[in-house]
Order: sequence, then structure tokens, then C-alpha cells
Amino acid sequence: MASVALITGASRGIGRAVALRLARDGYTVVLNYRRNERAAQDTAQILQALGADGMLCCADVTDESAVRRMVKTIEEQYGHIDLLVNNAGVAEQALFTDLTASQWRAMMDVHVNAAFYTCSAVLPLMIRRKSGCIVNIASMWGQVGASCEVHYSTAKAALIGLTKALAKEVGPSGIRVNCVSPGAVDTDMMAGFSDADREAIAGETPLGRLGKPEEIASAVSFLASSDASFITGQVIAPNGGLVI
Ligand code: NAP
Repeated sequence: MASVALITGASRGIGRAVALRLARDGYTVVLNYRRNERAAQDTAQILQALGADGMLCCADVTDESAVRRMVKTIEEQYGHIDLLVNNAGVAEQALFTDLTASQWRAMMDVHVNAAFYTCSAVLPLMIRRKSGCIVNIASMWGQVGASCEVHYSTAKAALIGLTKALAKEVGPSGIRVNCVSPGAVDTDMMAGFSDADREAIAGETPLGRLGKPEEIASAVSFLASSDASFITGQVIAPNGGLVI
């Protein structure tokens, strides 16, 4: 029986790379996305070409009932979920003094509340089997804070806090919870940055470049594997040395 992984925000970027890596690792892969049907279908096609099993699930992770419906569908289809990767996210740059309450809430919704909804829906299935693994995709800005991204940094710091506390609570049930905290990674999320900005970030990074989505996927794959069987509540930071 293949292990089943649910990856949120798997249509593009890091989520897509995680899905492809986990498929290569032998997982049945459930690809969640919000609205970019075309990108999600492309990811599904690549998976199919790899001979991987899986399904697409369109659901806005900020909508608790949509998350519950998605998890119920997966349970009906496969009976279990072994790995949850909370990856869906958005970034936004704004001066703190310009931020509206609605922008603030939207950032908490997609990074923090969504992780609460997915973990709450998936954990009963994992606890029943006394095994499971959760990997949350945070950010280096959740570790050290970013100017003009206070809401994003706050949300990612909260996700790191959720990871540590939840790891303590569900460890006795045989479930591991960890964080991957990437540095700057070349995805659509960086599309708003000018070439000069990207070069500046690369220049400040000891390894001299932006990260690739596949390099974040490697960290997720490791944390999900039996090689990480004694690792829980930790933050692994593939960031090229930008934050040490
Ligand atoms: P991306 O290329 O912009 O992709 C974002 C993904 O999240 C898409 O699949 C998108 O779905 C999905 N998504 C957004 N809101 C959603 C929602 N409400 N419900 C369900 N899915 C939703 O971003 P990325 O760079 O791969 O980022 C992935 C994660 O890594 C994020 O949590 C981000 O904060 C984190 N991260 C990224 C970087 C970086 O430099 N790229 C650095 C550190 C951390 P649609 O395609 O349907 O819109």
C-alpha cells in the first residue's frame, strides 16, 4: 500500500517540485491548488508521465469547510494520509503603516489558519494509525523578520511556533511535525522582484544564488523519510546561508 501525501499549493513552484519529488519517492500524491487549473493540470501530467498515482484537489485552504471536504474525498479514495505538506502561500510587500486589517488577516488566513484547518482535518486519520508526518513550509523571514513584510514574517513565525508546539503534542501518537524554512527561491513568488533585486539577494547569499524549488523539495523528502525518524519540532533551513 503506497503512502499518500497531500501537498497544498502544488500547482506551481515549490509545491510542484515537492509533488514530483514525493512521487519519485513512491508516494501517491494529492495535488491541492486554489485556482490555477492550467498549472495544476500541467503538474498532474508530469506526474502521470512519471507513472505516479494521485489526484487533483481544488480547494482554497483558507476555507475550513473546503479543507474538510478535500480531506474527506482523499479518505474515501485512499483511506489514509501519511504525509501533509502545508506549502500554499502568498507573499506581499507593503510598508507596515500602509497595511490594512484585511491584508493582515489574509496573510494569517493563508499561512496560519490554513495550517490549523489542514492539520485539524488530517490528524485524526494519522492518530488512528499512530503514524504520520507533517512538514510546514515556513520562510527565513519567519526566523529573522523582513522589513516591508511584517505580516508575512509574523505569519511564518507563527507557523514555526505551531510546528514546535504540535510536535510536542502529537509525538506520543507517533506523528512527526517539522518545518522547512527556505531562503529566496526562484518561483512565481519572486516574479515581482527586478533583476537588480534578484542579483542583490543572490549577492548577499553566501552560496551566491537563489535556491531552486527542487532544493526545497529535497529537504521535505528527507524530513518525510525514515532517515528523519528521530527528528521532530525542527526547522531545516535551505537558504544558501543567507540566514545563519
Ligand atoms: P508560488 O510559486 O507563488 O505558488 C504558490 C502556490 O500556493 C500555488 O500552487 C497556489 O495555487 C497556492 N495557493 C496560494 N493560495 C492558496 C490558497 N488559498 N489555497 C490553496 N492554494 C493556494 O509560491 P512558492 O514560491 O512556490 O511558495 C510556496 C511556499 O513557500 C509558500 O508558503 C511561500 O511562502 C514559501 N516560501 C517561498 C519562498 C520563495 O522565495 N519562493 C521563500 C520562502 C518561503 P494557484 O496556482 O491555484 O494559485
